[in-house]
Parts: sequence; structure tokens; C-alpha cells
Amino acid sequence: MDIEIKPLSEWPINTARPLIIAGPCSAETPEQVFQTAAELGKTGKVSLFRAGIWKPRTRPGFFQGIGEPALQWLVEAGRNANLPVTTEVANSAHVEAALKAGVDVLWVGARTTVNPFSVQEIADALKGVDIPVIVKNPINPDLQLWLGAIERFSLSGITKLMAMHRGFSNYGSDAYRNPPMWEIPISLMTMLPKLPVLCDPSHIGGRRDLLFPIAQKAMDLGMLGFMIEVHPNPNQAWSDAQQQITPDVFKTLTEGLEIRSLRLEDPAVTHTLEDLRARIDTIDEQIFRFMKQRLSVIEEIGLYKKEHDLTILQLERWREIVETRIKWATEMGLDTEYIKQYLQLTHSTSIRTQSTVMNTGKEDEVIW
Ligand code: PEP
Ligand code: MN
Repeated sequence: MDIEIKPLSEWPINTARPLIIAGPCSAETPEQVFQTAAELGKTGKVSLFRAGIWKPRTRPGFFQGIGEPALQWLVEAGRNANLPVTTEVANSAHVEAALKAGVDVLWVGARTTVNPFSVQEIADALKGVDIPVIVKNPINPDLQLWLGAIERFSLSGITKLMAMHRGFSNYGSDAYRNPPMWEIPISLMTMLPKLPVLCDPSHIGGRRDLLFPIAQKAMDLGMLGFMIEVHPNPNQAWSDAQQQITPDVFKTLTEGLEIRSLRLEDPAVTHTLEDLRARIDTIDEQIFRFMKQRLSVIEEIGLYKKEHDLTILQLERWREIVETRIKWATEMGLDTEYIKQYLQLTHSTSIRTQSTVMNTGKEDEVIW
């Protein structure tokens, strides 16, 4: 479907690259909102001031946002700091309240994008309204669902649309709170070259030390900008304390970024190459995660063998591994020499890991 996107020059906000959205995860108190906006305004780096008014929390019993009264704080703090403002809307009542208060840009959160009923409700509430809307990716890695949400807004007449990559939900432990899958936003950029795409390092990383590399990566991939959570007193934040940073740290972070020019000579070539590279990056990351998982199981096996006084090297099992893996590789059309080398390396690493776990101090011979 054809998506109409108005040229960035016609938008009511500063869309120069990098377009940076910053502000607290949640509006907590008037002082916190005004102070953050004022300090962010002074950095000269911010295009839009954010604060969550209604917070979608995974489990009840946590701070769910101040709700409507905080809209006034957000809008006034933004006006004082000379910054347009944005907040998350998840239903038509939120839209109505946000528009009434004078919010400049709306965003749709990952837990909303996932639900076509909610997206349609918001899109219907925005019929005839000329406001920029940012659509975050759904929590699950589904490009069609993301695209579908963007299409629903487009069909409602919204022409100032942006997408935002905030990573995807993951079961189990991971370095990232919501691991990114860069090839998905890049596919979106390839499909809709006029659609500005942003990134959300705060919700992808979930940790302060990951914000910089994620923001840099987003810029290197040619995204328009990013959104970062900033709080005057991050450790005391009522939500997402571990990922928020002070305005000073925010300033240092943004000053450290290298913003390379988009090689606009041939965007199609650039996008295709970036698409392919991002796919390789994601695949490698996934392989590493699997390797880590495999090693954890190896450690468990080591402990189990220790408890039951078994030797590390069980020749029968090793033969079976080689046989089955070579068979799988052949069936999948993988080079068996490549797989044999991989198995050799994996096996010696497994034995080393088990030796450490069992504390035998010496490594068994690896028999091929
Ligand atoms: C947020 O930006 O505060 C938020 C809740 O993000 P997400 O929808 O990406 O989880
Ligand atoms: Mn947050």
C-alpha cells in the first residue's frame, strides 16, 4: 500500500538529523518535568521533549503514570524550554486528552502497536487531525504488524509518520532489555524510503552503558535520530531507573556521537547493502546467544557428571554428535568440512568448560 509522507521540511518540529527526543520515562512531579525540560533545552541538542503520562506496566503494583494532570506539566515545561512535546497514547481517551492539552507529537508504544484493535481505535480518533505520529515496533519481531499499524494511520489521513525501533521482547537473560533486530527497521526503510525511522536506545538497552553504542549504531544505519530517557535523578526514577541518564550525561553522549552523512547519491544501493549487513549482524548476535546457551547447558552436564562420577568424554555420545550433525549439515546443503571444523572447536571448548566445572584440572584428549 502507498503511504504518503509529507516532506520533513513541512513538519512543525525540527527534523534536522539527528532528530533527538529526550525526557523522563514518566512525568512524576511538576518540578521533575520542568527541571528536565529546562536542562535539556539548554543542551541545544533536543528536537522534542518526552514524558510518559500513562505508563503501560508489565505487572500491576508499579507506578502507572500520573495520568491527565501531568499533561499540563509536560506542555508547559516544553513551552518554557522552547521545545515541542510528545507523549505515548494507547487509546482514544488518551488521544483526546493529549490533543486538548496541546501535545505536539504523539507516539504509539510497543504494547499498543501489537494490537490492531487499539491501533485502529487511535487511528480513528486521529481522523482529520494533522499531527505527527511515531509508531514504535510491536514487542514481537513482526514487520507486517508494524507496517500494518503504520498503514492504519496513513489510511486515517496522518501524513507525518515516523517509525521507531525499540527492540523486541525476549525470553530469558540477554545483554539487552529488548534485543534489537536491525534488519527489521532496515527492511521497513527499504520498503518505505520516505518514512523517517528513529531508534530507542533506552528501551533496547535497558542499561546506561548500552545507550551510546546503540545510538551510534542507529545513526550509522542511516536512521533519522533516536529517543533517550533523561531524568534529573535517574536512580530515584519511578520507572525505568536503570536506563535513565542525567541531562549532563545526555549532553556528553550526544556530543560524542559521530553523525556520518547519509550517502544520498544512491539510497537504494546504500539501503540494500545496509540491509544485508544488518542481517549478518543480527544472525551473528543470535549465533553467539545460542553459543552462550549451549555453554550453560554444557556446564550443567559437567556438574551432573561430577555428581554421578562420570568421565567428561563419553565416546559414544561424541560419535553420535558427529554423525547426526554431519547428516544435518548435508541435508541443509552446508559444507561438511566447515561443520567438521566447527564441531572440533565446539567439542574442545565443551570439554574445557566441563573440566573447569568438574575442577579436574586436566583436559581430556579430544578424539575426532
Ligand atoms: C516508553 O517509551 O516509555 C515506553 C513505554 O516504550 P515501549 O513502548 O517501547 O516499551
Ligand atoms: Mn521507559
